[in-house]
Amino acid sequence: MNKKVKIIFTIVIIFILIVTFAIIKNNNPKKENTNLKIVSSFYPINIITMNLTENARNVEAVCLTQNDVGCLHDYTLSTLDMKKIENANIFIQNGLGLENFMNKILQANQNLKIIDSSIEVTNIIKNNENINSKQNNETVNPHIWTNIENYIKQVETISQKLCEYNPENSLIYTKNCEKYTQALKELNSSYNEQLSKLNSQKVICLDEALVYLANSLEMDITYIETNHEESTLSADAMKKTIEKMKEENIKLIFIGEENNLNNAQTLANETGAQIVKLNPALSGKIDKNEYINAMTENLNTLKQLNIN
Ligand SMILES: [Zn+2]
Repeated sequence: MNKKVKIIFTIVIIFILIVTFAIIKNNNPKKENTNLKIVSSFYPINIITMNLTENARNVEAVCLTQNDVGCLHDYTLSTLDMKKIENANIFIQNGLGLENFMNKILQANQNLKIIDSSIEVTNIIKNNENINSKQNNETVNPHIWTNIENYIKQVETISQKLCEYNPENSLIYTKNCEKYTQALKELNSSYNEQLSKLNSQKVICLDEALVYLANSLEMDITYIETNHEESTLSADAMKKTIEKMKEENIKLIFIGEENNLNNAQTLANETGAQIVKLNPALSGKIDKNEYINAMTENLNTLKQLNIN
């Protein structure tokens, strides 16, 4: 009998221990996850998030992709990326189809709140003059942030949504938004004041990301769709572009500063146009001032252009 009691006693103790461990185990992840986790899709969006979440309480802001990954058109999500999504609360995207993996993200975390930064941007550029492509369909150019006014709208949209989803920090988001947009508005005024000489100037854009920048300067743009990280053109497109540049007397070529220069150089040699290297703020240092730095660098480059 005594032995049986001992066995029962032991079983009861073991049962209690198992239940206790299970409870502790269940409680622990909650403790680790008291932070609100915000994931930005890529570099320019991450810079906005860094500015808005500065000094926010209990917020962890991360970027889905590395800061040197460039544009996301053909991006494939890695296992590490999916891990970031699994325990995230908010996902901030550029929008307009740039993040073509949104279905996977929503499948991985159905409770994720999505912020689309593009919803207030109205001057969407459609690519219907497409020298480099066989099909003639209109595609929306998603690189809206190189127009400072658009970027300000993206900042404001993200701020408003963060206030809605995380009211605890709404005062901080609002204050950060005001501070950041103030600096951006000043930079935009400098663009308007110092670059009016570029209004109506004809330009070839060899990097899709720079089209909004040229558009914000009211330039006369020929938008050539390239594989824009490379800025390369097919032989046929090259021939047509040279013809068009000669016909229309286009003397400026905008290209991303990290793009392959070969095609731009050929165009310049054939037409006497000048190559202007600009920073599309697609990648760079992880520093909240980097968008403003890149756009200031572009302002200085454009200011120094000799236009006759
Ligand atoms: Zn792109």
